[in-house]
Amino acid sequence: MAKDRVLTADEVIEKVSEYLNAEHVKLVEKAYQYAQEAHKDQYRKSGEPYIIHPIQVAGILADLEMDPATVAAGFLHDVVEDTDITLADMKEAFGEEVAMLVDGVTKLGKIKYKSKEEQQAENHRKMFVAMAQDIRVILIKLADRLHNMRTLKHLPHEKQRRIANETLEIFAPLAHRLGISKIKWELEDIALRYLNPQQYYRIVNLMKRKRAEREQYLEEVITDVKMRLNEIAIKAELSGRPKHIYSIYRKMALQHKQFNEIYDLLAVRVIVDSIKDCYAVLGVIHTCWKPMPGRFKDYIAMPKTNMYQSLHTTVIGPKGDPLEVQIRTKDMHHIAEYGVAAHWAYKEGKTVDEQASFDKKMSWFREIMEYQNDSADAEEFMESLKIDFFSDMVFIFTPKGDVIELPKGSVPLDFAYRIHSEIGNKTIGAKVNGKMVTLDYKLQTGDIVEILTSKHSYGPSKDWLKMAQTSQAKNKIKQFFKKQNREENVIKGREQVEREIKNMDFDVKEVITLENVKRVAEKFNFANEEDMYAAVGYNGITALQVVNRLTEKLRKMRDQEAFVEESLKDLKPVSSQSQSKKNSGVTVKGIDNLLIRLSRCCNPVPGDDIVGYITKGRGVSVHRADCPNVNDEESTDRLIEVEWEGGTADQKEYTVEIEISGYDRQGLLNEVLQAVSETKTNISTVSGRSDRNKVAKIDMAIYIHNISHLHKVVERIKQIPDIYSVHRILN
Ligand code: MN
Repeated sequence: MAKDRVLTADEVIEKVSEYLNAEHVKLVEKAYQYAQEAHKDQYRKSGEPYIIHPIQVAGILADLEMDPATVAAGFLHDVVEDTDITLADMKEAFGEEVAMLVDGVTKLGKIKYKSKEEQQAENHRKMFVAMAQDIRVILIKLADRLHNMRTLKHLPHEKQRRIANETLEIFAPLAHRLGISKIKWELEDIALRYLNPQQYYRIVNLMKRKRAEREQYLEEVITDVKMRLNEIAIKAELSGRPKHIYSIYRKMALQHKQFNEIYDLLAVRVIVDSIKDCYAVLGVIHTCWKPMPGRFKDYIAMPKTNMYQSLHTTVIGPKGDPLEVQIRTKDMHHIAEYGVAAHWAYKEGKTVDEQASFDKKMSWFREIMEYQNDSADAEEFMESLKIDFFSDMVFIFTPKGDVIELPKGSVPLDFAYRIHSEIGNKTIGAKVNGKMVTLDYKLQTGDIVEILTSKHSYGPSKDWLKMAQTSQAKNKIKQFFKKQNREENVIKGREQVEREIKNMDFDVKEVITLENVKRVAEKFNFANEEDMYAAVGYNGITALQVVNRLTEKLRKMRDQEAFVEESLKDLKPVSSQSQSKKNSGVTVKGIDNLLIRLSRCCNPVPGDDIVGYITKGRGVSVHRADCPNVNDEESTDRLIEVEWEGGTADQKEYTVEIEISGYDRQGLLNEVLQAVSETKTNISTVSGRSDRNKVAKIDMAIYIHNISHLHKVVERIKQIPDIYSVHRILN
């Protein structure tokens, strides 16, 4: 790469002519003409015509032998940003692909990176990649940055430092990950020159001083190796491996080493024709000099994730010093220098399939970049894995270029509340990429969002809760409703509650007692009654919900009274068909003259535990306490206490149904009937049946005075031979 010489447009065109066909060269030429025209009245800080910069950027891309669209975009990369020409113009003149590349570079140019202390540079790098959509956009951006770094001296001191720092944290690592070491090293060296000129020039001078001595020694080593390779007929190019200033600086700084300890390390690079030769050379080197344990690395069998391949070894050299050797093929060397660009260098007549695999490589590379981890730090690795969730995130820009990360599906309101809750609360509209959008517009990565606010805004509307996607925004909106009108809401809420109480025909004073309100507020998990009223005020909870709870006891009492009253109205003479035309023998505590019936489902008899059930219009029915018909949830409100009347109870008779089962033999029914009559018990009805297994069942309704009378009858029946069981029936 011609770093010291400014290329002319003709030279760039000439360079692309070497690998592009005439039609494609024409496209590149047209791009140059277009850029030349667009930038014609512009000048750089250095005083040069602006067009010099895009020419150099295109030159760097041509040097990487990039495809025509990329080189053309190199010429055009600043046109949309710096001139009146729009993206649409660009699309019309050069088509979708070139326009997309230029747009990508323009968007990336808008990101402002903060320093490492403030923001994680790593995340910025990944975001950068995620945003680029097409890796070629990054290559153009790297070429752009490289030329800007080469001409950094024309900028003010402060800017130099900022750009150099950004280059070191964002762009050089990117170039490294893309495997473009040529660009990476140059970026690093220039950055160091501006960030730490003292150290930079010190290293440069030390290198100069040692150069002659070093070169002579290297020469000897190289001659020696060449001779041995000749003996086994291997063609190889050998050279001393250039050391980069920044890598020396880093080693000195990180490993606390002196310049001599690093620079004196001799390094030789051997480039051969085939992989087989690589291993042959390794064999020769290891026979000549003793290899240092643990220093051999086979990146041919196990390429680095940035596609780098080579054999690395360190041996004890002729003078007893460590000697580093790198062995690789020509192709590997090309990739080591040009990385991803080497892989995608333009080849004439790419087919559709090849284009598809090219695209595939891009996505593959994106993945690699996301997962790759060259540090051994497990935590950092996990962090990089998390980037996988990128697909669920969008990266949005403030008008100032700050990056805001939001979940996919977020809307301008989420963005507004992320910046500040006051901005969210005062939002009246939003602009995305300069155009007004609705507040439920779904944000896309790369959108530049501007929130329009007004001091006179009434604050969030209730709809916002549905629009906002992030819980942060939702919570802040809710908070607003809670806080903003608290006092108003407390008053409003209390009024609503009181109105609801009146609607239900209750006495407000009776319902709103300190104790009752406190109890209900606690039930709803409010800290105090004011909070509860405020919640009613902003519709966090309805007045009806609160009043239902406040009146639950009163309503139960009222219902019971209502039923009792109704029953009293229906008090009628007892029907003649049942024994209850006499007194039922049961009283309801504290209430006289109530129609009371013994239920037919369980036929309670004196001595049973009983309970009263208030029926609708038919008085109180009396059930056994364990009767399933009164032991369900719904019944509990209607149950009242009842008791057997004392004394006279025994003179009354109650019907009880029993079921008797036994072996079906001749005369069994007769014996049963006889046994019952022996206990002086009247029988109301009787029926018998038997099944195939010769089991007889006798159902019998008998008149009983009380529970002990019943027990006597049951016990007597059980004494009959062949009786299996006697049960009282619950219908
Ligand atoms: Mn530029």
